Amino acid sequence: MIACGLTLTAMTAQAQPAIPRDNALEAKVEKTLAKMTLDEKIGQMLELNLDVMGNMKVKNAKVDREKVRSVLQQYGRSAEEVEAMTKMTDQEIIDKLGSFPIDIYQGETQREWQLNETMLDTLISKWKVGSILNAPGTRAPSVDQWQKWIRLIQEKSMKYLGIPDIYGLDHNHGVTYTAGGTLFPQPINMGATFNTELVFKGAEITAYESRAANCPWVYNPVVDLSRDPRWPRVYESFGEDAIVNAKMVAAEIRGYQGDDNNHIDRFHVGTSTKHYFAYGAPWSGKDRTPAYLSPQMIREKYFEPFKAAALAGTLTMMVNSASVNGVPLHASYEYLTKWLKEDLQWDGFLVTDWADINNLFSREHVAKDKKDAIRIAINAGIDMSMDPYSIEFCILLKELVNEGKVSMARIDDAVRRILRAKYRLGLFDEPNTGGKGFEKFGSDEFAAASLKAAEESEVLLKNDGILPLAKGKKILLTGPNANQMRCLHGGWSYTWQGSKAEDLSDKYNTIYEALCNKYGKDNIILEQGVTYNENGAYYDENEPQIDKAVVAAAQADIIIAAIGENSYTETPGNLTDLWLSENQRNLVKALAKTGKPIILVLNEGRPRLIADIEPLAKAVVDILIPGNYGADALANLLAGDVNFSGKMPYTYPREINSLNTYDYKVSEEVGTMAGAYNYDAKVSLQWPFGYGLSYTTYEYSNLKVDKQTFTADDILTVTVDVKNTGSRAGKEAVLLYSSDLIASIVPDNKRLRDFTKISLEAGETKTVTFQLPAKSLAFVGADGKWTLEEGDFLLKIGNQQVGTACSKTKIWDTPNI
Ligand code: BGC
Repeated sequence: MIACGLTLTAMTAQAQPAIPRDNALEAKVEKTLAKMTLDEKIGQMLELNLDVMGNMKVKNAKVDREKVRSVLQQYGRSAEEVEAMTKMTDQEIIDKLGSFPIDIYQGETQREWQLNETMLDTLISKWKVGSILNAPGTRAPSVDQWQKWIRLIQEKSMKYLGIPDIYGLDHNHGVTYTAGGTLFPQPINMGATFNTELVFKGAEITAYESRAANCPWVYNPVVDLSRDPRWPRVYESFGEDAIVNAKMVAAEIRGYQGDDNNHIDRFHVGTSTKHYFAYGAPWSGKDRTPAYLSPQMIREKYFEPFKAAALAGTLTMMVNSASVNGVPLHASYEYLTKWLKEDLQWDGFLVTDWADINNLFSREHVAKDKKDAIRIAINAGIDMSMDPYSIEFCILLKELVNEGKVSMARIDDAVRRILRAKYRLGLFDEPNTGGKGFEKFGSDEFAAASLKAAEESEVLLKNDGILPLAKGKKILLTGPNANQMRCLHGGWSYTWQGSKAEDLSDKYNTIYEALCNKYGKDNIILEQGVTYNENGAYYDENEPQIDKAVVAAAQADIIIAAIGENSYTETPGNLTDLWLSENQRNLVKALAKTGKPIILVLNEGRPRLIADIEPLAKAVVDILIPGNYGADALANLLAGDVNFSGKMPYTYPREINSLNTYDYKVSEEVGTMAGAYNYDAKVSLQWPFGYGLSYTTYEYSNLKVDKQTFTADDILTVTVDVKNTGSRAGKEAVLLYSSDLIASIVPDNKRLRDFTKISLEAGETKTVTFQLPAKSLAFVGADGKWTLEEGDFLLKIGNQQVGTACSKTKIWDTPNI
């Protein structure tokens, strides 16, 4: 009897959902569900693209063949297809592409997307569609436009279904798809701040501005772990480390959703943490291709931030398009249902990524047709299908239910989860927000928050004493990133690829403009030498004019080379060579011959190799992708008006065949063995994870841990003194690492366990304290179980280290600890 009682208690303890159950809310969910027909239930499980509910009206259509070329390249069409299409007549091109919401026209062509009310009516009344996403043509409309469209959608949803729509947008570093709002630095920059408060604040503002535009749901945070520099979406997450992503995601969800996840107010939104999981680890380096990962890597690292998101109460998650160890995530009962919904008792809903149920048969070949794919995905645990252009899902899923291939219980579970999210968002009571009470949209207050985040996110990687840069010197500003907003904003900025949006970001300063403001226009000579071809793919450059830049250098005391990448996202951002473009490296090499000191400003979405030009520079600043105020932040930092405090959120590689992360396995670094041949297995980095300089210096001392030995249930108190030994105030990110010295499977070199950021006046010392649960030093063993092994550990902060030892091995039977 006693044993039985204990088991029951243990099960009940585990059955607690992360968001405390609200009985009144659950009763409303059940009442609504009980009244619904099967068609209504299935409709709730479909998400369509807004584009299908309207048309792009075009007057005086004249086709621009460069735009056609660029669009087709962006969508990954082959060179032959692109050539063939650009040779067609205007009418032929319009017949083929005109119905898509894309811009392929010359300047005098007038385009306007118009919502087709009859179509909307049919989709909601007949097909009972419960969710809609995206901006027409993936270009940011105004708040007023959103108010009109989403309001109409909500009116029809309430009229025909009595259930509000849940509208979703990729508002992922600010309000991507709402003109006039605030764009923050990309998440990779937010990772570089190592400041969870800034992340919280940014999310809170984005939530407010989304609701101002009547949008209650954002496809963010992204915690894919950027561990492969070749992948085009590196900049969309907080970097390579699991704990950084886990702490940031928790802060971000609090910022987006507020303090009460059951009752999210009209200034907060629901999140969709994505892309569950291991999307950032493609074996080929190309977007949406398979990952092959050990069970240890999956559980310890890739799953960790999603677990944190579930525990922080993220309302929804979006699933990884690709596969892990041969299993497409959209088909994995184990990962979707078992790991998330059962093990964590997460009660949110899972939405697919773009048309990804279709991809189970068309790309992944694990289903024989669309119907088979729907059966697999829904039974695996998918609750909502983002099937942007088709209502076939409704027909096929109904057939599957009638044939007994998908149970009513599964349908009810999915719909219950969707209704729960809609109730939590308050959409039944107030389907529309915005208008009065949202006066802070696009305000100076929000701009200041974005500027501050940018200042804390730009990383000083090298400084041979040239910075801060005094006023009064003549500066040659060169490089393709010197004078456009597109590269400072990156992908997901006003448009999907971040391209063709300069008109929407006119009021912000490019690097050139910000340097003119700081140093005076007369002191800045702009000669770019290399420029991007705005009508080509993101990597296309125009014929270089390096000589012109070299000539201009004669008039300058100092050269600032703003180099890197143009904006991109997803598959169009794939690359074939990690080296920075040859033109850009040639530009820097030619300028170095002038003997003028060079400052490199790197503005890029992933670490492009620069080992041959880095030695030519006196200083290097990596601004990553810093958003609306990134150039102003750079000017403040270069001039020394603000101090640097960013640190690298990923490992910056030096060699193409040495793409390590900081937590590599110890045996990845072998080097030369005495008397034997050279293994040449070395970790060769340009800059390590967590590296970043400032205008002051910090000294670490007195690292202590309160326990010489510990067991799994202990909490270790770790303290260290940090002193600002320089002559100016600064902020320092303090990173706590551990190393397990001997373990039954090859240990990681080191692992970040916690971090914090502190401010220090010149000469000031602060003691930083971390409370480290001993169980967080555990790893997943060869048998797949969490294990904390007896033996020695080192704790490391800055240049300090201290030993401690686990006195008793513990192996857990639970999937999570
Ligand atoms: C992307 C997602 C995005 C979705 C909706 C997909 O192509 O992978 O990150 O949220 O589109 O726009």
